[in-house]
Amino acid sequence: ERPEIGSGTRTKAIMETYGLTFKKSLGQNFLTDLNVLKKIVTAADVTADDDVIEIGPGIGALTEQLAKNAHQVLALEIDERLIPVLGETLADYANITVLHGDILQTQLSALIQEHFDGQHAVKIVANLPYYITTPIVLHLLDEEADFESITVMMQKEVAQRLTASPGNKDYGSLTIGVAYSTDSEIAFTVPKTVFVPSPKVDSAIVSMKKRRQEKYHPQNEVNFKRLVRGSFMHKRKSLWNNLLGLYGKDENIKNKLTSALNSSQIEPGIRAERLSVADFVKLSDSLEEQKL
Ligand code: SAM
Repeated sequence: ERPEIGSGTRTKAIMETYGLTFKKSLGQNFLTDLNVLKKIVTAADVTADDDVIEIGPGIGALTEQLAKNAHQVLALEIDERLIPVLGETLADYANITVLHGDILQTQLSALIQEHFDGQHAVKIVANLPYYITTPIVLHLLDEEADFESITVMMQKEVAQRLTASPGNKDYGSLTIGVAYSTDSEIAFTVPKTVFVPSPKVDSAIVSMKKRRQEKYHPQNEVNFKRLVRGSFMHKRKSLWNNLLGLYGKDENIKNKLTSALNSSQIEPGIRAERLSVADFVKLSDSLEEQKL
């Protein structure tokens, strides 16, 4: 019996056997703590009823734990060197498929259609490469793909931004992007010492559960998203000043903005970080009425 991939000794042996080095440019910090790996699988609530997509399997530490619990696992890795390695480290598991590719260039819905049977819930689980955490999360949420949840490790600071409440210093357009379609929380935090090489910062597992029923219904989703981004453009400026930056400073526009703010009962002088998702939806709809 070989020790599991996520153990320190096995990880070291695999790196040596294949003459592998860690690619910093690809965010390669491998997890070498079986307890943490198993806790991620538990937090993601992966069972035999689920198909899992893993982003960035590395040498397969998390993949192995997922495969022990899931129906099927599809792992997408960008580093070509690791594909043959994964073929060997995961050879004992018939329910794993490894693909070579870049998650940001991958259409999730197509992947799900092509590889899964449609009879199992799809869950996304990963220890994300930190240099592109935000783009990956936005990419996953942007798609109409039919998955149930995202459970991913990221640096703690980003996790706090994703899950912040209005009024908190970490609250911003990213928080709203996540809260718009999911219920999210930090499942647990992880010290930097459980990775090789050890990153500079501590990490946290964030769980995002997609709502079955949409909670927010802005009249125009594209304009809603533009409003949110524009309102946080200059974080230290008031909402009013950001809105002028976004829509223009004409007297006519100012009048429309004032009406829209009035009818959504929002003080122009506050900062965007005080507004809930529902406030932004109200404001967006009022702006639609003003044809802005
Ligand atoms: N899952 C392994 C673990 O937990 O030990 C490795 C996690 S490591 C933090 C991130 C992994 O994502 C690396 O294997 C890296 O090569 C891969 N990766 C980086 N950018 C990627 C991308 N755009 N698409 C897919 N995988 C990527």
